[in-house]
Amino acid sequence: MPTLAPMIDPFGRHVAYLRVSVTDRCDFRCVYCMAEDMTFLPKRDLLSLEELDRVCSAFIDKGVRKIRLTGGEPLVRKSIMTLVQSLGRHLRSGALDELTLTTNGSQLAKYAGELAFHGVRRINVSVDTLDPSKFKAITRWGDLAKVQEGIRAAQAAGLAIKINAVALKGVNDGEIPEMIRWAHGQGMDLTLIETMPLGDIDGDRTDQYLPLSVVRAGLMDRFTLEDIPYKTGGPARYVRVAETGGRLGFITPLTHNFCESCNRVRLTCTGTLYMCLGQEDAADLRAPLRASEGNELLNSAIDEAISRKPKGHDFIIDRRHNKPAVARHMSVTGG
Ligand code: SAM
Ligand code: SF4
Repeated sequence: MPTLAPMIDPFGRHVAYLRVSVTDRCDFRCVYCMAEDMTFLPKRDLLSLEELDRVCSAFIDKGVRKIRLTGGEPLVRKSIMTLVQSLGRHLRSGALDELTLTTNGSQLAKYAGELAFHGVRRINVSVDTLDPSKFKAITRWGDLAKVQEGIRAAQAAGLAIKINAVALKGVNDGEIPEMIRWAHGQGMDLTLIETMPLGDIDGDRTDQYLPLSVVRAGLMDRFTLEDIPYKTGGPARYVRVAETGGRLGFITPLTHNFCESCNRVRLTCTGTLYMCLGQEDAADLRAPLRASEGNELLNSAIDEAISRKPKGHDFIIDRRHNKPAVARHMSVTGG
């Protein structure tokens, strides 16, 4: 049970979900996420794993029930299993319902067993295509065979897997039916994501943007999609695909506004708290964290931040807006 007053924002939303970007670094360079030549944060600016544990634990004391580790690529942070292990104590005590992770899968073969051992039950793995050469083109540095090996290891360890795929115009749109059959055939959910205008990348986002309303209409020629009330705490809307029996999610930040039910905040690896993925406003938690050994300053900084959680975002992708709606990359706040 939370030991402190729960976090309720000005719009009455109860903040119960914390996403933590444990590093901004990554071993891939996905075209919609990063430029190939990225400058990463100096290591000295990062919170240590102990400090990340302290902030997460403070949020749990204030009513957070679900934590997702993300990045950058969370599994490339050195000794990351130390954090997974220490947060696992909150699962065992019942203070936390779920500890989960979003990963590109490159290191999963190595870590799947340990993740399951420390109490992780579900993970999201990002796979945008099943074609090895397209995979290389999208991720620039990734190897699909390694990711597939990681997925098999995660399944063998008993982890439930949701595949996340970003819908990219002219790249993977023709492949989505095949991806549905592949994911569902292996007992995995699949969620499709629209590209969001976050951070400068090397290309033009209007070339990549594919509204999921269009994808969904196309899928309805081939599949029977039944709306279902399934919720994972995230913003996806789910359907059941009658032909496969599996679940298909749609995350549509641009064509549909999901802010009204937003229950989450995002912590970066430097201790900055973003109250909304689509807004610049943020609160520094690192200074209050480091200013004293007790959590009073940290707790009041968190309360003050939650009191500023905005009603929603206003992403726009069109040719009149050449700049990203938000300058920081997804790898900073972790999606
Ligand atoms: N590296 C891990 C991964 O790829 O799963 C975790 C971090 S990644 C930033 C989290 C998710 O955000 C991935 O599913 C990725 O495809 C998605 N993503 C990255 N940049 C995006 C963008 N500009 N628009 C939409 N989704 C994006
Ligand atoms: Fe790395 Fe994930 Fe961004 Fe791809 S989407 S570059 S895997 S952080």
